[in-house]
Amino acid sequence: MTKIKQLPESVANQISAGEVVERPASVVKELLENSIDAGSKNILIEIEEGGREKIRVKDDGSGIPADEMELAFSRYATSKIEEINDLYSIKTLGFRGEALASISSVSNVVIKSRTAGELQGTKMELKGGSVLGQVPVGIPAGTDIEVTGLFYNTPARYKYLKKVNTEFGHISKIVTREALAYPDIKFTLIHNHKEVYKTPGTGKLIDAVYTLYGSEIASNLTPIDYEDRYIRLTGLIGNQTISRSSRIYEVFFVNKRVVNSRTLSQGVEEAYHGVLPGRKYPVVFLNVVLNQILIDVNVHPTKREVKFSRDGIIKDVLKKGISKTLQTKDLIPKIKKKH
Ligand code: ADP
Ligand code: MG
Repeated sequence: MTKIKQLPESVANQISAGEVVERPASVVKELLENSIDAGSKNILIEIEEGGREKIRVKDDGSGIPADEMELAFSRYATSKIEEINDLYSIKTLGFRGEALASISSVSNVVIKSRTAGELQGTKMELKGGSVLGQVPVGIPAGTDIEVTGLFYNTPARYKYLKKVNTEFGHISKIVTREALAYPDIKFTLIHNHKEVYKTPGTGKLIDAVYTLYGSEIASNLTPIDYEDRYIRLTGLIGNQTISRSSRIYEVFFVNKRVVNSRTLSQGVEEAYHGVLPGRKYPVVFLNVVLNQILIDVNVHPTKREVKFSRDGIIKDVLKKGISKTLQTKDLIPKIKKKH
């Protein structure tokens, strides 16, 4: 046995990168969340070779001041919370201060950023988490981050990267969901120099759905607005003419955070029971707004799973809200009685 030693920060970052950065799509998700938290109105996502070559996220948000840029890349450095109690009233998507440290520890990063108050921006380069240099640069206010050579120094992770199309599929799913959660932001997604889509940023969910999924889905949705026991549901739900053979079109946002949740899926599926053919899943884009105290977002580093403290109630509200909307909107064909 050798002696106990404190791990150097670079090694610690690589270890936690294992949890935060699973594949190129995880990088995209973290960078997008940062751009959204920064109050951006336009976000450009440029991908090359499914993210294996390059991931670039450029925004017009608040920017990072020159004297904080290096700090932003160290572990547990965040501008979003100050003390543990802040976690119970968290309004931002990020708060763990891990993403930039983790991403930069397993890639090469070039970041350019400028705040509205600064006369010039700052460009900084990092390789495997070490800062190579920082120079002034002329750019519009906002942040532009480019990640290349992902997993170049973690061969085990690199080996598990899948084909370009598979990795891009994961990326496009992430971007699509954030674009649905934030219809007021214009998202432009580019892959291998071709525009995949650009959302209009009108603030209307239906406009985002139309751009992302086309008219067949968009024209078979109806708005939902329901409130019960301080849980509010808004969004769009599909009528009985559209259904899918997987849950991929069950999209949930809890307090504007994209989440996967068995509880929410169950509530929805119970409401559609008997409405859709067996083994078919509904199309729903559902915002669930509830008191922060009812959810714990700090279950996993990627924050995609949330824990509800009142599972049963939430499921019940979803089921009732959707059933009621489907009935009042006459979306379920009534069985004609013979006289
Ligand atoms: P977290 O988002 O959990 O705070 P990150 O490592 O993702 O941690 O980011 C660290 C900090 O860097 C953020 O708290 C924020 O202050 C700053 N930052 C990161 N990305 C951006 C961005 N696109 N625009 C403005 N500030 C950013
Ligand atoms: Mg973050």
